[in-house]
Amino acid sequence: MRIVIIGAGPVGLGAAYRLQELGHRDWALYERGEKLGGLASSHTDSAGFTYDIGGHVMFSHYKYFDALVEKMLGADHTRLLRESWIWMRDRWIPYPLQNNIRHLPAAELLECLDGLVDVQGADASSARDFGEWSELQFGAGITRHFMRPYNFKVWAHPLEMMSKDWIAERVAVVDLKRVLANIINERDDLSWGPNNMFKYPLHGGTGRQHRPL
Ligand SMILES: Cc1cc2nc3c(=O)[nH]c(=O)nc-3n(C[C@H](O)[C@H](O)[C@H](O)COP(=O)(O)OP(=O)(O)OC[C@H]3O[C@@H](n4cnc5c(N)ncnc54)[C@H](O)[C@@H]3O)c2cc1C
Repeated sequence: MRIVIIGAGPVGLGAAYRLQELGHRDWALYERGEKLGGLASSHTDSAGFTYDIGGHVMFSHYKYFDALVEKMLGADHTRLLRESWIWMRDRWIPYPLQNNIRHLPAAELLECLDGLVDVQGADASSARDFGEWSELQFGAGITRHFMRPYNFKVWAHPLEMMSKDWIAERVAVVDLKRVLANIINERDDLSWGPNNMFKYPLHGGTGRQHRPL
C-alpha cells in the first residue's frame, strides 16, 4: 500500500512514525513549510530566545504517547507548573478565572457569586450547546464576564454554535465551597486540571528539531 501524508505537523509526523513502526515502508510525508512541527514548532531568534509557535503544554491520556515522549526526550526535560494569567479589568487574574473570582471588582464578584448560587443543583448535562452548558454550570455572572468573551475570542464562534461534548476536561467546573474558601483565605487556585504539571524540553522549545529539512 502506498501512503501519502500531507503536512508534517504533530499529526503527520505521528502518522509517519507509526507507519514506520508497523513495518510500512512505502509512505511519503510532504511538508510545504521549511520546518517540521506545524503549529507545534519553535523558533529561536538571533538573540537566542526560543518561542513556541503554538503548543507548549504537553499532556495526554495515552500510555503510547507518554512512552514516546519519554523515549524522545529522555532525561533532557524539566517539569513545569502550568501558570496562566488572564488580563482583565486592569489586573492579572490567575487561570482558571472561575476559581479565582476573588480578584474581580466587588460588583462583578457579587454578580458571579449570585450566578453560582443560582445554578447550584442545576443539571448542566442536559444543555444543548456550550453556551447553555456554561449558563447552567457557572451561572449568568461568570458566563457574561468571562466564558462568553473569552471563548468567542478563542474559537471565533458563538458558544451556541459549539457542542458541549468536547469540554468536559478542558474547562474547570466550579466547586462553590472551593470558590468561597479561596475568597475567604485570599488564596490563588492554580492547580486545576490534567495538565497543571507538564514536561518541557530543556533545550529548543516544544518543537525542537534535530536537523533542518
Ligand atoms: C497558540 C496555540 C497554542 C497551543 N497550545 C497548545 C498546547 O499548549 N498543548 C497542545 O497540546 N496543543 C496546543 N496547541 C494545539 C496544537 O499546536 C495543534 O493541535 C497541533 O499543532 C495540530 O497538529 P496538526 O498536525 O493537526 O496541524 P498543524 O500543526 O497545523 O500542522 C499542519 C502542517 O501541515 C502543513 N501543510 C498544510 N497544508 C499543506 C499542504 N497542502 N502541503 C504540504 N504541507 C501542508 C503545514 O505547513 C503544517 O506544517 C496550540 C495551538 C496554538 C495555535
